[in-house]
Amino acid sequence: MKNVSKISESSSVAAKNILIEATKTGFSSRFLLAEGIDSCPIPMFVLDYEHIIANWNTALAKLTGLTEAEMVGTREHWKAFYDSKRHTLADLIIDGALEREIENSCHDKYRHSSLLNGGIEASDFFPNIGENGCWLFFTAAPLRDSTGRIVGAIETLQDVTHSRLTETALKESEIFLNQIVNGSSVPTFVIDREHRVTHWNLACEIVTGLAAGDVVGTREPWRPFYISERPVMADLVLESAREENIDTFYHGKFHPSELIAGAFEAEDYFPHMGNDGRWLYFTAAPLRDANGDLIGVIETLQDITEKKRAEQALRESEEKYRVISITDALTSLYNSRHFHDQINIEAERSRRYARPLSLLLFDIDNFKRINDTHGHLEGDHVLQSVAGAVKCNLRDVDTAYRYGGEEFTVLLPETGIEAAAILAERLRQKIAGAALKTDSGSPIKVTVSIGVAEYAPPEIVQNFVRRADKGVYEAKGKGKNQVVMSFL
Ligand code: GH3
Ligand code: MG
Ligand code: MG
Repeated sequence: MKNVSKISESSSVAAKNILIEATKTGFSSRFLLAEGIDSCPIPMFVLDYEHIIANWNTALAKLTGLTEAEMVGTREHWKAFYDSKRHTLADLIIDGALEREIENSCHDKYRHSSLLNGGIEASDFFPNIGENGCWLFFTAAPLRDSTGRIVGAIETLQDVTHSRLTETALKESEIFLNQIVNGSSVPTFVIDREHRVTHWNLACEIVTGLAAGDVVGTREPWRPFYISERPVMADLVLESAREENIDTFYHGKFHPSELIAGAFEAEDYFPHMGNDGRWLYFTAAPLRDANGDLIGVIETLQDITEKKRAEQALRESEEKYRVISITDALTSLYNSRHFHDQINIEAERSRRYARPLSLLLFDIDNFKRINDTHGHLEGDHVLQSVAGAVKCNLRDVDTAYRYGGEEFTVLLPETGIEAAAILAERLRQKIAGAALKTDSGSPIKVTVSIGVAEYAPPEIVQNFVRRADKGVYEAKGKGKNQVVMSFL
């Protein structure tokens, strides 16, 4: 409609100027008026009060293929537009029949001109003009003499076929876009260049819980996503956002689209959506007109809550199995497999950074006898009690392992052999001093023999362990319940 009203303005202005000229010169000064009309680039004709064509300008001759010579002096102006004789707008004005016609007509072809006093404008399709017919916008206004009596009428015409076709195509493409957006099962909304929501499809209503009627036309696409006003991704793309701007609002969560130029994608958690929050993956892509100017942004959403929760559950179960795989079920200390991994890592670190690393290896004294006296189950409880005592007496950086049946190891990073021996002695005393009892209440005496070694690069790790084991062997040989340092 914009184009048509612009054209209507230009042809009405032309008619108005000619009318002013006619008034100034007096309609009788036909020569001057004819000059003005003829040189006007807008097709037009003038009828006198007897409906005889007084003027038929060159532009109109070009449009209709009927020359001034053929037409002036006749009443056959209808020929330019219709197959059979009928009134034109100018005829209706001269007859004063227009008001009646306007009132009676059930179609809305005619309307009063906003620019011309007494002028009427209309548009219609004329199948006989041009190869495939044409859309004309026409304005007619009365010509009056000095007493105000109607002495003729002037009609201007404008070929608006192109703009009508463009308008129809635009309408059709709008309908098409509406169908695409509304029919899509992907939650989608569109904002125009004023950040106003123009589309909010059914899928978007379902995922956001916000009805299209409550958001279309507003500048509040943020409402279902956040508790207070802030830009959504579409707003940032519309502002031709640089990545730094997007980063302010979607720090570490967004990336430029690999498929669409100027589009951005992000993944975020929306704690206020739904009963317990939603995870959304969203893409905002610029919409451009034929000139490449930004006219809006389309944003699509994907509810990835279930996927995210499944991923989280998988991560948790993976972590659970990882912990199980490195833990001894009976004592909850790390197992021997983890010991071998860790001692290699710590030895490598010790070698590379020339830092001390010590190892305690200890074995419960006469454990077979404990089993034999109190039963295997009580033996298990003893293993658990010893493990508990070890855990309680370690620093955060130290790690304890069940090395074998009734044998344990402790890795002590950043610790030289003297400090390690002090820790070992403290452990030995704690275990020996613990008042353990069987389920039936009988006291159980538990002692350990501990071998202590400090890693001495470039020795191989197996040798490091063997030395600690040698310390245990020596402690056993010396009567058990003691600590023995084993040097290279
Ligand atoms: P020493 O003082 O020389 O170390 O003598 P010991 O009896 O402790 O050593 P020995 O190697 O003869 O016996 C170890 C016993 O530990 C034998 C085995 O049945 C027992 N044992 C190994 N694993 C477990 C376990 O998980 N639970 C229980 N209750 N006993 C275990
Ligand atoms: Mg043993
Ligand atoms: Mg033993």
